Amino acid sequence: MGNRRNKRLQREKIYKKIRNISSWGTVVICLFLFAFFTVLVIFLSGCIAQYIGETKIGESYMDIAHYAGLYEVADDTNGLRDFVDKHVKDYVVTDKDGNVIYTNGTNTCNPKGGIIALENGTQFMTIHQDTENGFLYAGEDKNIKFREQEFIKLIGKDVKDIKFPVWISVDMNGGENHFIGRIEFVFNNKDLILVMELFLGVVIELFIISIILIIFIVRSVINYRRVVRLYYSDVITGGHNWTWFLRYADDRIKSFRFRKNSFALVNISFVNYRNYCLCHSMSEGEELLTKIDKTISRMIRGYELSCHATTAGFALLLFYENDELLTQRLTQLTRTLEAIDNDHAFVFQMGADVISPVTNSAGKVLRRKDFNIEKAFNNACSATDEVSDTDASGIKIFDSKLLEDQRWVDTVQANQKRALANEEFVIYYQPKYNPNSLQLNGGEALIRWNSPEYGFIAPGRFIPIFEKNGFITEIDHYMISHVAADQKMWLDMGLKVVPVSVNVSRAHFAEKDLAVQIRDMVDRTGCPHNLLEIELTESAFFDDKNAMIETIKALKSFGFMVSMDDFGAGYSSLNSLKDMPLDVLKLDADFFRGEKGGDRADIVVSEAIKLAKNLNMMTVAEGVEDQEQVEFLARQGCDMIQGYYFARPMPKNEYAVRIGAAPAPQPPAAPQPPVQPAPPQPPQNA
Ligand code: C2E
Ligand code: CA
Ligand code: CA
Repeated sequence: MGNRRNKRLQREKIYKKIRNISSWGTVVICLFLFAFFTVLVIFLSGCIAQYIGETKIGESYMDIAHYAGLYEVADDTNGLRDFVDKHVKDYVVTDKDGNVIYTNGTNTCNPKGGIIALENGTQFMTIHQDTENGFLYAGEDKNIKFREQEFIKLIGKDVKDIKFPVWISVDMNGGENHFIGRIEFVFNNKDLILVMELFLGVVIELFIISIILIIFIVRSVINYRRVVRLYYSDVITGGHNWTWFLRYADDRIKSFRFRKNSFALVNISFVNYRNYCLCHSMSEGEELLTKIDKTISRMIRGYELSCHATTAGFALLLFYENDELLTQRLTQLTRTLEAIDNDHAFVFQMGADVISPVTNSAGKVLRRKDFNIEKAFNNACSATDEVSDTDASGIKIFDSKLLEDQRWVDTVQANQKRALANEEFVIYYQPKYNPNSLQLNGGEALIRWNSPEYGFIAPGRFIPIFEKNGFITEIDHYMISHVAADQKMWLDMGLKVVPVSVNVSRAHFAEKDLAVQIRDMVDRTGCPHNLLEIELTESAFFDDKNAMIETIKALKSFGFMVSMDDFGAGYSSLNSLKDMPLDVLKLDADFFRGEKGGDRADIVVSEAIKLAKNLNMMTVAEGVEDQEQVEFLARQGCDMIQGYYFARPMPKNEYAVRIGAAPAPQPPAAPQPPVQPAPPQPPQNA
């Protein structure tokens, strides 16, 4: 279980990895690239803007510096000042403290500094060149480096006019004076095209990246959904698969929201699937499964879940109110599914495990954090097994008794081999008496399990399990060889050995060479064949009649007697009596159990005895417990009686005493005290 869980977790991990790589990984990479390129574009535009700005300022600066040079050498005679006044319309000359010593035109700049000056409500800059740091704002705060952002802001504001004024300050006379001239900062078409190109570049880049990003995101989402669908959908039905169910049912059961709700985990087994595929085809079978899956999903409510869980099985998680309502819903579902195809009568067997809310000692409802859904599903499957013995649809809700039974089955299976090797299986013998002569004429060997852990166990507690798991054939071999050995030993001891019958399970009759196997086993002990009788249960006669007849004939040809056990229990097989060359008919204990049967029951028994006689068969009446029955059977000519009236099954030593003590013992007066104490029952919770 742990290993399976690990494998599942590992699978889930791989799935998540693939899912995330194919989807979110690319989204993250795209977003990263987008961010990277955007930053790059902004940085580059900044550089270009700075370049334009500095080039323009550089050109203007050179003009002003040229006029400042002229101003520096101007005097009253050379007329240079007039020349400068004419070409630089607005300028001021200051001393080093910023005091204006000459003005031409309109002086609107603040020659004492300040980063931004105002002119007609428009912002502009006073710019000064510094050899180390390039262009600086003029004024007191000369250390502020020219900031392209503010420059761009400024351009942005005045870009409509294309021209805007800038005051440029140039040092004269070794810094004694400043020439601050106004120039028109012209932003011409060339610059505009450059900026437009830049802007367009940014827009195109962002557009392309956005498109790529959208394509990648859409593709990733599609991929994500594809991977999820691949992982969670069922290959056959196209609906949800078991992995999906495990995950979401687990979420639902453990969620805070549904903590107060009870759930039922249901297993549905479609019994006829294999047969349907055989008679039609695999693909038609799968189509049918798809139809069933869709019908189930249609019939469940919101927040309830269903999936195709196993080859012919479905799992459901339903809300649970009580057993009655659940059974009602499942019955309705069964009826709908049974009628899914008009031409067929289908069988659906369902088992459910109820999941109740969890509370703490104070009665507060808690989340079902430690819930194991696979265990619950297993319980639901075990409940389904309980109805799987019949061929009809059925519903069973898992309970503690079932769990106990399940554990017992598990214990038996875990111990069966060891028990056989350790000879823990012991043989009890139940004598058969002639009701007229009261002589011991035969016996039946019956198995018991004397387990060191679980005590003395009756065959009803383990034989059906062995019949299901196939271990019964080994038990049958064990019994035949041990009984034959006992008979041979008693024969050698000179006791009055009578034939003993051994039960051979119907499962064993599938083996073609069964008669030869039995003969060889018996021969190894040296026991004469006529001292062994093989009992076959009545129900076994339905399996493969011809094979059965062959085996019976072979056994008889080797000298063994063959009897039909439990005649009258379950289905009647009068017809099989016709074809089977049997020696003995064992009337089932049901004929003599419970209330006195009355005239009609007596008629049936006496007619059965007559029928057997006419077919040259001996009759043995089983389960006879009172004297009245013995007397009645004696009158009807029944050959032998095997019942508590005469003797219970007993250990072989006691039986040896009985066959050694000839003539046969007188039966005690009814009611018959047990010859030996009833075997202790195995612990119920074993
Ligand atoms: P069965 O073959 O029909 O065995 C007869 C059962 O009836 C025995 O139960 C026996 O103890 C019981 N019985 C006999 N007389 C009376 C009576 O007067 N009253 C009542 N109430 N019961 C009586 P047991 O020994 O518990 O065996 C149960 C079944 O287990 C057997 O039914 C047989 O089907 C199976 N079984 C027992 N031993 C073997 C074995 O070695 N191999 C196989 N394949 N099956 C075995
Ligand atoms: Ca029997
Ligand atoms: Ca029987």
